[in-house]
Order: sequence, then C-alpha cells, then structure tokens
Amino acid sequence: IFDEYYIKSLIRNVPDWPSPGVMFRDITPLFKSPKAQRMVVDSFIQRYVDADFTHIGAMEARGFLLGSVISYELNKPLVLFRKQGKLPAKTIAEEYDIEYGKAVLEIQHDAFESGASILLVDDLIATGGTLLAAATLTRQLGGSIYEAAAIIDLPDLGGSQKLQDSDIPVYTLCAFA
Ligand code: IMP
Repeated sequence: IFDEYYIKSLIRNVPDWPSPGVMFRDITPLFKSPKAQRMVVDSFIQRYVDADFTHIGAMEARGFLLGSVISYELNKPLVLFRKQGKLPAKTIAEEYDIEYGKAVLEIQHDAFESGASILLVDDLIATGGTLLAAATLTRQLGGSIYEAAAIIDLPDLGGSQKLQDSDIPVYTLCAFA
C-alpha cells in the first residue's frame, strides 16, 4: 500500500536551487530506496493496469525513469519527449516558458499513429509548462491525452490546475504546498 508520508520523507528539499528563491524537490533519495521506488511504481501500475491508453509518453529526463518501467510492466510502447536537439530524424517542436526564458520540447513525427491515446509521465508538475507542451505535440500528431501522471504536484504553482483547464486529467501521488 502507498504510504504518502514515507514517500514524502524521501524527497529532499533543496532551498535556492537551481536559483535563489526556488525550493527544489529532489527525488534522488526516493530512487535510491528500492522499497520506495517499488511503492511509487506499483501505485502507477495498479492505477493503469486495465486502462486502455495505447502509449506511454515520457518527459526527459526524470520522466524516463518512470515511463520506462511503466511501459515494461504494462507492455505498452514508450515514446520520448525530449529537449531540443536530442532526437534524430524528423521531429516536431513546441516552445514553452521556463522560469527564466524559453525551452523547447520535441517528439519524432512518427512516434505514434493518429488516434493514439497517450499517458504522459513526468516526475513533478510545477507550472505545467512541460506537460502542456507535450500535450500540444501529442494533439498535433492526432493523438489524445489519456492522463498526465507524476509523483509530485506543486499545486501553488498552478500547473495541475492549468492542465485540467486544458482537458488533461491529472494524477499525482503526493503534493507539496
Ligand atoms: P513545469 O514544466 O514548470 O511543470 O516543471 C516540471 C518540469 O521541471 C519537470 O520535468 C521536472 O522534472 C522539472 N522540475 C521543476 N521543478 C522541479 C523540482 O522542484 N524538482 C524536480 N524537478 C523539477
């Protein structure tokens, strides 16, 4: 069973990183614990074992840690949303705002067929910019969003609300307010 208190105790709070005023939620202690990692992954597997989405879409880079194992367990194809310039062959790109400036997310144009239903996965939802960009790319390729899943929500930054306002269901395991 999922123990939210235990999981949150393994997320390290790093003040003023990567820039002053930011409280970074560091999941490396969680992944260092096989027990905690299993608890997190099992929670997602239980939720999605009978779900009828077609693909898992993982966000670079910490989303890959979750997306890969969910894809393996559910025997569903994994597609990668990557930062600019990392993916070979033909890609489509979407720009989004980050704290200071812009970032670009890309996916290969043949990542999935039109009509696919994608479970988007990342470690954490802050402003929602990353997952919204992924949703835009998914829709551009004719796919739909099944849900956006993450370990952590930072509700004060408004991202999970913004996603839901864009018709993207959101599922997170814990929140820091
Ligand atoms: P958003 O796009 O503003 O929602 O930010 C989420 C993305 O930035 C995710 O890919 C996270 O990995 C990363 N991120 C932002 N803040 C944190 C944090 O405090 N801890 C870990 N990752 C973060």
